[in-house]
Amino acid sequence: MTVIEHVPAKEDARELVRDHLANVPSSVMSEAEQEGYKADIKRLLEEQNAVLVAHYYTDPVIQALAEETGGCVSDSLEMARFGKDHKADTLIVAGVKFMGETAKILTPEKRVLMPTLEATCSLDLGCPADEFSDFCDQHSDRTVVVYANTSAAVKARADWVVTSSIALEVVDYLDAKGEKILWAPDKHLGSYVQKQTGADVLLWDSACIVHEEFKAKGILDIKAQYPDAAILVHPESPESVVDIADVAGSTSQLIAAAQELPNQRFIVATDQGIFYKMQQLCPDKEFFIAPTAGTGATCRSCANCPWMAMNALDNLKSVLESGEGREIFVDAQLREKAMKPLQRMLDFKMK
Ligand code: SF4
Repeated sequence: MTVIEHVPAKEDARELVRDHLANVPSSVMSEAEQEGYKADIKRLLEEQNAVLVAHYYTDPVIQALAEETGGCVSDSLEMARFGKDHKADTLIVAGVKFMGETAKILTPEKRVLMPTLEATCSLDLGCPADEFSDFCDQHSDRTVVVYANTSAAVKARADWVVTSSIALEVVDYLDAKGEKILWAPDKHLGSYVQKQTGADVLLWDSACIVHEEFKAKGILDIKAQYPDAAILVHPESPESVVDIADVAGSTSQLIAAAQELPNQRFIVATDQGIFYKMQQLCPDKEFFIAPTAGTGATCRSCANCPWMAMNALDNLKSVLESGEGREIFVDAQLREKAMKPLQRMLDFKMK
């Protein structure tokens, strides 16, 4: 049974989204300028015993720099793990705010900096902690499972935190124990998880502004031109898009599918930043961005998360020069509470 019951203050969330979109940087650097920034960043990382941890959705220049400097490029679960285990004193998290918070919760002794604290996520914005807490109180018979894309305060209210790479396994495990689930915040991912596991899931009503824009019709139009192409879909996308996928899965699972499937062509419904890693691992294969609109276009993101795009060479360099105002802090009590469901996820993954 799936029920979408709660409707948060959507207009407020949209207003915040519009504000953030207005802040997306649009400056374009020459190659020589880029090289200058990269050299400075490499030196600063070394001088400050800092490591760069980047998400698959960031600009390919940032991803390449993380790799060249011994940092990591991965999904949010591996970013958290890598930062925790790395010997650096300072973590530079290139991604969105919940990723920096997660790093700080897991490694409070380290300094965690982000190129910009403006980089957030529509799922995080769409799940305010106080409203969510009331929602949990109204359904206290349910096990609260929240997606990693949430604030520390929302995580602190949860029994489990999951990423898309282990959501199915965790919900399957809880369902087998007879537990009913309260899922937040992504309704599309929650609905996908419910469908796959058959669990009793109550959904919070929020969505990713990037994945929500993918359209099944546009994808099928490309498929008609390239019938041999496999369709890879992140399950934050609407059900109609997930239904036509050859593989639905997390960023890491989609990258693995690109490597493992025999197809030479792929239509990929997730943020286009992922093409850096896919093309690196599969240089002979061809990747198409899944369309987000078509005629009747409503696209606000075009497969490019506006908040991930706020991570750039200039703010990366400047945060290394002076982290002031861009360090992540998490209140100690909140950290302790949020750590429990996060640790559950990490321990579950280790099993
Ligand atoms: S792509 Fe969607 S889920 Fe990911 S950070 Fe951006 S808004 Fe959030």
